[in-house]
Amino acid sequence: MPHPAGPSDDDGAATLFGLEALGAPGAPATGAPAEPSAGPAFRTGDTARRLLPVREIYAEPAAAASPRGRQIRERFPRARLIEVDSHWNIPGLHGNEGNVERWVRVKGETLVLGERKTLTTRPNGRSADWIAPGPSNGCAMACAYCYVPRRKGYANPVTVFTNIDTIIAHLGRHIARQGRKPAPNQCDDTAWVYDIGENGDCSVDALICDNTADLVHAFRQWPTAKASFATKFVNPDLLAYDPRGRTRIRFSVMPADDSRLLDVRTSPVAERVAAAADFVDAGYEVHFNLSPVVLRPGWQAAWGELLEHLDDVLPARVKEQSAAEVIMLTHNRDLHEVNLGWHPKAEDALWRPALQQSKRSENGALNVRYRNQVKAEALHDLRGLIAARAPWLRIRYAF
Ligand code: SF4
Repeated sequence: MPHPAGPSDDDGAATLFGLEALGAPGAPATGAPAEPSAGPAFRTGDTARRLLPVREIYAEPAAAASPRGRQIRERFPRARLIEVDSHWNIPGLHGNEGNVERWVRVKGETLVLGERKTLTTRPNGRSADWIAPGPSNGCAMACAYCYVPRRKGYANPVTVFTNIDTIIAHLGRHIARQGRKPAPNQCDDTAWVYDIGENGDCSVDALICDNTADLVHAFRQWPTAKASFATKFVNPDLLAYDPRGRTRIRFSVMPADDSRLLDVRTSPVAERVAAAADFVDAGYEVHFNLSPVVLRPGWQAAWGELLEHLDDVLPARVKEQSAAEVIMLTHNRDLHEVNLGWHPKAEDALWRPALQQSKRSENGALNVRYRNQVKAEALHDLRGLIAARAPWLRIRYAF
């Protein structure tokens, strides 16, 4: 489907959405909250160029030749095209060897195009009823706690799946098979909720191509279902997608000091919060992910301030339809080792062995979570803070 706003060389919106966090870890992520613009396409502006200065595109031949692949190559005409047999295992790109120092640069300068071969919709039941086969894997942002890179040896630029029509056709069949939702649950009262962004950020994908727009448009035709994705990036181009209530966008938030340290290359938290009303007005359902909750000295005061900020700046029409997920930090030993190579300060906050316990996952990775008692007490405290500072914020689930 054509992009609703259409391409433009105008950079006007970019100055409104300066990504102060772009670049070096720890760079300030604050700034005046921006006002979304309905003007020329944000994805052709300065902010998009700074986030995605794409220089090379690795592509499976069929993906490069597909309509979506051609759209992406036209979008980045100066990028070098390198054909690869498989998007999943690219020697010299995936794996840490030699790439740790280039960790952040790789995410912006490299894209991968492939076709999604496995079309599986998995049950979830916590954030969403179903995890859809997503339109991408990987992300141009660089949150220090991100779990997405773990299956790629931690070098993790965006892989765009170009066969979006096949993905949408699969979803249509899956949704039709479910029929009506029989009863409300924590995901939604009436709609089957499909998470379309498990392994990436759909707002950033929308800077690259129309995959996100196509999915948002597709869900408009399915009255029993709703798309959902979490994001840490404010992309005002999404305001023109006309989702008609069938897409839930979940802005992830955390205290500004934590975000400056950990949410590398993302939109500042104040900007995400400030954008919520525009997204509601544009036809999205807007929820918040309070995540990840990172325990460090003073965390309760910092979260209390954030909740007060939400209460102060969000208008009633946002509060009335809002809900939240609370997700405590999960870390990983291999990611800890990688982070020590490019962003060691983040590990002072993320790696807290005295508070954490480890558990080997099915694929052999050593995941690290807060000890049961520590986590239970922290969730109790956070629920208390929400009740006191933002009582309108319904907690869909806390994990
Ligand atoms: S925005 Fe999400 S997918 Fe992207 S790096 Fe951060 S946690 Fe990972």
